[in-house]
Amino acid sequence: MPVFRFAPSPNGQLHLGHALSALLNSDRAREASGRFLLRIEDIDAARCTPQFEADIYRDLAWLGLRWEEPVRRQSEHLPEYEAALSRLTDMGLVYPAFLTRGEVKARVAAVEQAGGTWPRDPDGTPLYPEDDRHRSDKERRDLMSQGLRHAFRLDMQKALELIDGDLFWTETGGSPDPESGTARILADPSRWGDVILSRSDAASSYHLSVTVDDAAQGITHVVRGLDLFEATAVHRVLQVLLDLPEPIYQHHRLILGPDGRKLSKSGASTGLATLRDQGLDLGDIRRLVGL
Ligand code: GLU
Repeated sequence: MPVFRFAPSPNGQLHLGHALSALLNSDRAREASGRFLLRIEDIDAARCTPQFEADIYRDLAWLGLRWEEPVRRQSEHLPEYEAALSRLTDMGLVYPAFLTRGEVKARVAAVEQAGGTWPRDPDGTPLYPEDDRHRSDKERRDLMSQGLRHAFRLDMQKALELIDGDLFWTETGGSPDPESGTARILADPSRWGDVILSRSDAASSYHLSVTVDDAAQGITHVVRGLDLFEATAVHRVLQVLLDLPEPIYQHHRLILGPDGRKLSKSGASTGLATLRDQGLDLGDIRRLVGL
């Protein structure tokens, strides 16, 4: 049976972009006589709050959505992400990364100020420098025993050597034309460099937890915004390494603000709570998001 999910993070108010995603998932689940699940992506304890989570349930109920209970909350599944991380570590694909964000930024700025270029990932974030990838086990142990804060990163090059062969995912209608058919997309995970798998202040990263969760919940169809299209390459790598099933993907158009940019959670004018307070109803919201 097809299984869909909407997976918001409770770190701000839902806006029209979330409404489109949630409604599309629920519509597609209904059309396919499938299931519709809700997942709360609250791995980032510093930014997620119980109030935002309560607001998500209220906003989605207002949109007329019904989801299965219990809702999966990432903060309740940390051992599963840790197990996935250990498995990748045992495969020799994980290394501790000691540079702080500030140190990386300074390194990049120095190169760019000297007229050089620093490689960036599809989101525009500078790739992590190579130093930590090449350390010996002894060096790693020494640095860790000094209590130096560190994240864990995936050695992407090594991971891709292990996979040996091209990676693809199946993209179905909606990207960019809702009428378009199904295509096999060639994934290029190396553009993301050595992605983070866990941080000193968060037990898992977005990439690792979303991959583990989609498999744990038996998700067959991932319907989400085009801003996550490129990230799918990383999810495919993790799925193959961890022997997890491959869902079908649909990356839908984004709702843009008057400035032509993707909506942000702080842009109150398109927040669902604000629109509800202004007296709009579900029909208005569906029209506003083009459904
Ligand atoms: N939690 C992510 C977000 O709010 C969505 C993750 C996903 O759909 O894969 O942007």
